[in-house]
Amino acid sequence: MDHKKVRVRFAPSPTGGLHLGGVRTVLFNYLFAKQHKGDFVLRIEDTDQTRYVPGAEEYINECLRWCGLNPDESPTVGGPYAPYRQSERKPLYRQYAEQLVKSGHAYYAFDTQEELESMRERLKTPENPSPQYNHVVRAKMRNSFTLSDAAVQELLVKNTPYVIRINMPANEDLTITDMVRGEVTFNTIQVDDKVLLKADGMPTYHLAVVVDDYLMKITHAFRGEEWLPSAPVHILLWKYLGWEAEMPQWAHLPLILKPDGNGKLSKRDGDRLGFPVYAMNWTDARTNEFTKGFRELGFLPEAFINMLAMLGWNDGTEQEIFSMDELIAKFSMDRVHKAGAKFDYEKAKWFNHQYIHRKDNESLAALFQPVLDEKGVTAAPDYVATVTGLVKERCYFVNEIWDHGFFFFQSPVSYDEAAVKPKWNADKDAFFTAWSAQLHELPAFTAAELEANFKALAAEKGIKMGELQLPFRIMLTGGKFGPPVFDIAATLGTAETRARIEKGLAMING
Ligand code: GLU
Repeated sequence: MDHKKVRVRFAPSPTGGLHLGGVRTVLFNYLFAKQHKGDFVLRIEDTDQTRYVPGAEEYINECLRWCGLNPDESPTVGGPYAPYRQSERKPLYRQYAEQLVKSGHAYYAFDTQEELESMRERLKTPENPSPQYNHVVRAKMRNSFTLSDAAVQELLVKNTPYVIRINMPANEDLTITDMVRGEVTFNTIQVDDKVLLKADGMPTYHLAVVVDDYLMKITHAFRGEEWLPSAPVHILLWKYLGWEAEMPQWAHLPLILKPDGNGKLSKRDGDRLGFPVYAMNWTDARTNEFTKGFRELGFLPEAFINMLAMLGWNDGTEQEIFSMDELIAKFSMDRVHKAGAKFDYEKAKWFNHQYIHRKDNESLAALFQPVLDEKGVTAAPDYVATVTGLVKERCYFVNEIWDHGFFFFQSPVSYDEAAVKPKWNADKDAFFTAWSAQLHELPAFTAAELEANFKALAAEKGIKMGELQLPFRIMLTGGKFGPPVFDIAATLGTAETRARIEKGLAMING
């Protein structure tokens, strides 16, 4: 195995928006591939056309692009094993299903929908409300086990619709070594005779996933824990098709759990608790149902990725902030936890806050620009960058730059009058009138220069700095908020600062 080039795949079915668990599966695949200088393949598993949702594949592509987890091979970028969309590979699968029929590991089943339903009705018990088509039931149905060869031939000649089902052994233990969970043993008694090829010739997921992992030379198959019950079907198919030596190494990744209680985090939990569960906004084209995403809420992709990496993995230290390069270097499957990881939205916000704080002002300002555009505000890019630098440490989301810095873009429309008026007096009034008049004499107009000059004048007039700074802040911003007041004035510039002092004085004296 060691000499083989590492090839991993993310194999989503295009049935909707990407849950954050799905993106984490992408991430772990990607990190593993990059660490081993291997290939990361995106394969679209669209064999179940009843579940196909228009737009879902484009959404997946866009999501991978946003996260910077671009595949080396995919339906859009192509590659040596194209096509990468299973529906386009349809003619390829039948031969493998037929091969299994020939070797006795699969069989034709001619049962109609009505026959299947009546079987379920007939065999259901309170303990087993929905009986499965398995090694026991098989003997009572219309298939190439129960029918004679001649009868089967006749049905085939008449073009009778049939499916091909796997012949699950009644009681066999199967063991795999999972990279996360260690040795896992299944007994085939738990598994029914899954359909491999449908009546329309389309393979089911079970057949297609094995055939494609084989043909695409996948060395490691990483997927969510919810696929563990299907693993015995897949292991047997690898074996029955004679490919056991080529079987990828499996890793079933732990579930992402609800923040409260137990169980897998679902879209509904997000709606109920008020946080996103999808990577990006998603509108289901069939139902028009809208689901909000991390991206549109103002999460930076770097923060989103870092947060996801820590859901079920750590490097054994207390470190929580990792760049993509560090993740590639440090990621290891044997440090992925077996137990599910509880999702914590406050922690997700904390990651975003950390990344916003660390991001350079210019890039952050560019991300904030759409918010300004929407508000009809025009401002020079370097001005927006300066404002961003002053407020970013208070922001959890990019759009909060506005909440913490709106007064840089518009003069106050209302004032916290109660914070200034009761303590106002003629001396303070005189101080601001005098100070405003001398502002144009400050050549650099930096925060330090403004502060020194303000202090000097306050001393000269015998007024405490503390008595003056709050009124000054309220004149500039309208309230008791914002970054250091001299930084605000320095950013607003001489003319705007003067204008606001005058407007503020009019408000206080009015
Ligand atoms: N098509 C499956 C899905 O939708 C892929 C499971 C696997 O990776 O084997 O998640």
